[in-house]
Amino acid sequence: MDALQSRRIEAISIAVAVVAIGAGTAYYLYITRKPKPCLDPDNFKEFKLVKRTQLSHNVAKFRFELPTPDSVLGLPIGQHMSCRGKDSVGEDVVKPYTPTTLDSDVGYFELVIKMYPQGRMSHHFRELQEGDYLAVKGPKGRFKYQPNQVKAFGMLAGGTGITPMFQVARAIMENSKDKTNVSLIYANVTFEDILLKVLLSSAHHYSVQSLLQVACLFWTVSYFSICRKSLIILPKVSLAASKCTMF
Ligand SMILES: Cc1cc2nc3c(=O)[nH]c(=O)nc-3n(C[C@H](O)[C@H](O)[C@H](O)COP(=O)(O)OP(=O)(O)OC[C@H]3O[C@@H](n4cnc5c(N)ncnc54)[C@H](O)[C@@H]3O)c2cc1C
Repeated sequence: MDALQSRRIEAISIAVAVVAIGAGTAYYLYITRKPKPCLDPDNFKEFKLVKRTQLSHNVAKFRFELPTPDSVLGLPIGQHMSCRGKDSVGEDVVKPYTPTTLDSDVGYFELVIKMYPQGRMSHHFRELQEGDYLAVKGPKGRFKYQPNQVKAFGMLAGGTGITPMFQVARAIMENSKDKTNVSLIYANVTFEDILLKVLLSSAHHYSVQSLLQVACLFWTVSYFSICRKSLIILPKVSLAASKCTMF
């Protein structure tokens, strides 16, 4: 009788241990699972516009919802995607765009778009209203950024060319283990044309002053440098003299 009882207790203990190990493993797999990327390189997928914010007379920020609140877009740093729309005569048009968000922004992605009066895809974005869908395909591009892959990046950007630079710079600034220095020369025709100054300023208060000050001083070209976590004015001579990878 005693032997039977102790065998029963042994069996129950083993069963409890197996269930506990199973539950622990399932929980570990759940918390360490990687969310499935939403982008498809071969097929256009539709994403719903949930918020449109006008930033200036011809620039707007578009926030698109991902399929679930914990979905990520799945765009490697340094790459872009193709967006499809209709121009003013109803013909299909496909153009490349780089989101200003990263995969650390979960459940959505954002595009900052400058809309040109005669632009074909600009027309599509001008007409796009909250609740509408945008067809997107990707990732695209050969360059994939890896943390610390180079000592320094030298970036030259004009107008909307800031968005690919912003994507890489933001990834570097948000990773405390990434020691890459970034120097950026950002050229614009007028002060109003400078994109993303609000986004840059919300991340780094000091940078706003440098950027605005320099932009006002030079009017057509602004110089600033992102060194680790802070932005400082970069004298032209130090950019030329520094050893860095340009892109
Ligand atoms: C990798 C990559 C990422 C990009 N990311 C972004 C982004 O995040 N946001 C964004 O707004 N754009 C971005 N662009 C630019 C975008 O792809 C389009 O070129 C832009 O939206 C204009 O397309 P469109 O069809 O409206 O103009 P189009 O029909 O091609 O051009 C019509 C007219 O618009 C004017 N125009 C078009 N482009 C420019 C320009 N760059 N400068 C001055 N006038 C111009 C010209 O008058 C031109 O004749 C990116 C481009 C690349 C290559």
